[in-house]
Amino acid sequence: MDCLFCKIINREIPADIVYEDDQVLAFNDIDPKAPTHMLVIPKKHIATLNDITEEDQALVGRLPLTASRLAKDLGFAEDGFRVVMNCNEDGGQTVYHIHMHVMGGRRFTWPAG
Ligand code: 5GP
Ligand code: ZN
Repeated sequence: MDCLFCKIINREIPADIVYEDDQVLAFNDIDPKAPTHMLVIPKKHIATLNDITEEDQALVGRLPLTASRLAKDLGFAEDGFRVVMNCNEDGGQTVYHIHMHVMGGRRFTWPAG
């Protein structure tokens, strides 16, 4: 499958991997928007949020669980952090394998930046 993140999962493309288990993988974003900017992805290929099914519920729930655990490990969970999932063109999605951006180490504004 011609999917960048599946290639990272399969070690066909290198990435700075920070966490892995049987269901999810987390690695540093190549173009960080914060002092820490990781992507947490399911190992199962799911193209967009619109493609999630009932049977994916627990797997997708593991994304924020992993985000919070990593934020705790890295020491910015209490100060706070930002998670983002972009869907399709208007949402700003550029890689079509769902991923949760996990950004920490600075203060974010809402709704932008
Ligand atoms: P999206 O725009 O789809 O929500 O986010 C895709 C993210 O993937 C972007 O933040 C982008 O910097 C990151 N990205 C794109 N290509 C690569 C890559 O080859 N390696 C890593 N580690 N991140 C990538
Ligand atoms: Zn994929």
